[in-house]
Formats: sequence, C-alpha cells, structure tokens
Amino acid sequence: PFEVLVIGGGPAGAAAAIYSARKGIRTGVAAERFGGQVLDTIDIENFISVSRTEGPRLASALEAHVKDYDVEIMNLQKAAKLVPAKQEGGYHEVVLENGASLKGRTIILSTGARWRQMGVPGEDDYRNKGVAYCPHCDGPLFKGKRVAVIGGGNSGVEAAIDLAGIVAHVTLIEYDSQLRADAVLQRKLASLPNVKIITSAMTTQVNGNGEKVTGLSYKDRNHGTEHDVELEGIFVQIGLVPNTEWLKDTIALSPRGEIEIDVRGETSQPGIFAAGDCTTVPYKQIVIAMGAGSTAALSAFDYLIRLPAA
Ligand code: FAD
Repeated sequence: PFEVLVIGGGPAGAAAAIYSARKGIRTGVAAERFGGQVLDTIDIENFISVSRTEGPRLASALEAHVKDYDVEIMNLQKAAKLVPAKQEGGYHEVVLENGASLKGRTIILSTGARWRQMGVPGEDDYRNKGVAYCPHCDGPLFKGKRVAVIGGGNSGVEAAIDLAGIVAHVTLIEYDSQLRADAVLQRKLASLPNVKIITSAMTTQVNGNGEKVTGLSYKDRNHGTEHDVELEGIFVQIGLVPNTEWLKDTIALSPRGEIEIDVRGETSQPGIFAAGDCTTVPYKQIVIAMGAGSTAALSAFDYLIRLPAA
C-alpha cells in the first residue's frame, strides 16, 4: 500500500508525485497514459521559463523527473472504481479496470479532461494542423490569419473575443438559432468589427490541402444549403469533459462533472485530494495543473502527519 496514491499521470499527477516523494513517503502513480494531454500537443509556448517546447518532449521530461525519485509508476492502468476508507486514517482502495486493486492512505485524483470533438471528416486529420482546442495555447499561432470558433456558449464566445484581438478575422459558428453565452459576452462580441456570427449552422467538414486547414463547410439548418468558409484555423469550443465518470457515486462533483475542491485541493472525502483539469479549478493549463498537483501533495502530507500514531 501507498501513503500517497496518485491516479493520473499528466502535469498535475507528475507534480503531485514529485512533491510527495520528496517528503520521503511511499508514492505510486497509476495512469492510463502517462503524459496526459501533453502527448497530444505540438507547440507549447506558455510553459513559463521555457520559450518553446513540444508536447512529447515535455511528457518525457515529466516522466524522467518523476523517475529521479522513488516513485512506483504504473502506466497503462485505468482506474474504474474508488472505495473510500471506512474510517479516518484507513486505506482507500482504487479498483483498476483489469480487476487489480491499489491502496493508498491518501489519494490524489488527477485524471484530467478531454475536449469534446465535432466528429466531422477532417477533424482528426488536421488536429494541430489548424484544428485547435485551446485559445490560450494556440491563439498566437494564428496571428493575422482567419479562424473559426465552433460553439456559441460561454467558452466559444470568450474564445472569439480573445482571438479577435490576435487574428485577422473570426467566424463564430453556432448550431442553435441563438448564442447561449452570457448577455454581457454577446454584447462585447457584437461590438467587434472583425467577427462574423453564423447561427443555425452545422459544421459538416474540415477542409485542408493535405498539410493544413484551408477552410470548413457547414450546412444552413434553416435552408438546408451547404456553404464553405476559407480560413486557416478552427477552434472547437463545444465542451471540456472531465475524466470523472468513474467517481460520480463517491466524490462530490459539480454539475459539469468536475471534482469539487477547496483551495487546498481537498475533495468531499477526507484523505482524498484532487488537482488539475478534472477539478473545478477555473483555468485548464499546464502550469496551473502543476501548481495544483503540488498543492494537493502538500495537503496530503499535512493530512498524513496529523493522523494519530498507529
Ligand atoms: P491530463 O494532462 O489530462 O492528464 C490526465 C492523466 O490521467 C493522464 O495520464 C490520463 O491517461 C490519466 N487518466 C484519465 N482517466 C484515468 C483513469 N480512469 N485511470 C487512470 N488514469 C486516468 N496547456 C498549456 O498550458 N499550454 C499549451 O500550449 C497547451 N496546449 C494544449 C494543446 C492540446 C491539443 C490540448 C488537448 C491541451 C493543451 N493544453 C495546453 C492543456 C493542458 O494539456 C492541460 O491543461 C494539462 O495537460 C492538464 O493536466 P492534468 O494533469 O490535469 O490532466
């Protein structure tokens, strides 16, 4: 059994493991895919103090740093069930999909999130070649170019406002007959000269030249007509889904399925902490996930040293 058992091996989990191991306590990390979303990223230009790096390079650096310490890494292990300790200070159990089970006196949940995809032809082929999901990350790569934002909820409209200040032109595409974002955001968006809003539009295809995105096609849902828009980038903003389906009966989740945490990373269960994109933390970024993982590990240590001596 572990004193700290981390579930998830992205930036949050790696930071949590390093901070725990540095306290000299028995630490394990189980991850479905060590590296997390970073593995799916090409350019990273906002990892502070590193002007530019690439996802796979940062992922191997994360793993190498964790391996500097006495941490047991269990890669390709998917957690399926959490059984909290029966009494304070007892072991929590995590049952893996393969039937094995792991025990930890504290648990740090850092299972991250995934961007909801449009599921249209071309989306997969042009991911990181014009199809993007994170305006804070990739917006500056489209400086002076034309982009579309898919989705007229708060995140889509926020992304369109953000991008309008960087790129040449933004086309916002919403499936419904009206935007769903807060009125104040919609007013701000409508005031921008380089934004066009298209409602009742279903994106049907991402178009490209084999190397990068050249446009998109959509269907006008009122008239059934097909239209093409020429552009260089597409930001898909139709939801970020936390990887917490397996926790819904044991831990308090927000209406969006995010693990509710306080400023110390504590969840609704004593001795169980959480960090990163799977939580209610307001912004989902690498440096933020790393900070949160460190916070959760220090809180777990604080919890352990307060348990009565056995
Ligand atoms: P994740 O990175 O999602 O890691 C989650 C971990 O949990 C993974 O190891 C996963 O396999 C594991 N896991 C999930 N479910 C289970 C389970 N049931 N059992 C066991 N393990 C499980 N951020 C930036 O700051 N800068 C950027 O430039 C940037 N670019 C991005 C580009 C793309 C294409 C994407 C998708 C994201 C980008 N981000 C960027 C966001 C950044 O990657 C995330 O904020 C960050 O990775 C979150 O870290 P995390 O550890 O919370 O979660």
